[in-house]
Amino acid sequence: MPGDVIVVDHPLVQHKLTELRRKETESLAFRRTLREISFLLAYEATRDLGLAMTAIETPLVAVDAPTLAEDWPVLVSILRAGNALLDGMMELMPEAPVGHIGLYRDPETLVAVEYYCKLPDRLEGRRVVVVDPMLATGNSAVAAVHRIKEHGAEDIKFVSLLAAPEGIDQLRAGHPDIDIYTASIDERLDEHGYIVPGLGDAGDRIFGTK
Ligand code: URA
Repeated sequence: MPGDVIVVDHPLVQHKLTELRRKETESLAFRRTLREISFLLAYEATRDLGLAMTAIETPLVAVDAPTLAEDWPVLVSILRAGNALLDGMMELMPEAPVGHIGLYRDPETLVAVEYYCKLPDRLEGRRVVVVDPMLATGNSAVAAVHRIKEHGAEDIKFVSLLAAPEGIDQLRAGHPDIDIYTASIDERLDEHGYIVPGLGDAGDRIFGTK
């Protein structure tokens, strides 16, 4: 149902998430593990795509077999941390068109400021999967989904690795029609807008910038 929050509690996801939370996990392992988790999150966020039967021939016989009935989903990464989830999803769905939205959090107000937006031309009638590992305040998520809707999208799934209750509330208030997928709903945000217990700054850990 639109507006659901789906916690992906698969044991492999949970095990890998714990590896990501560990402060000793270095960038290379962090990126590799995030990529692995992205397959499993994408699997959940696309499990209701429609199928149609198509006539094919195997080496043995002619058979009707299922293929995607719709266009491939559009993937949209919220820069910069979203790109690590995007990489895995692009491997799983190489046919998917990809958009990028650049938003940074004003460190004082935590308000999302857009500095880049490039989306595929046609979003009407297509599944759009938006990726950002950290759903923290929800401000970037609300702004990104707003932009995506301006481009005509109606079927949107938001995929994060971790979510704060505050971020979920904010995104559901701004866009009650979209589903949210996450591997964990953590306890809270701290005074700097970091998710607790969380995993720290996802962008820094992915790209080794600290
Ligand atoms: N962004 C991050 O990278 N980490 C958080 O905990 C919150 C937002």
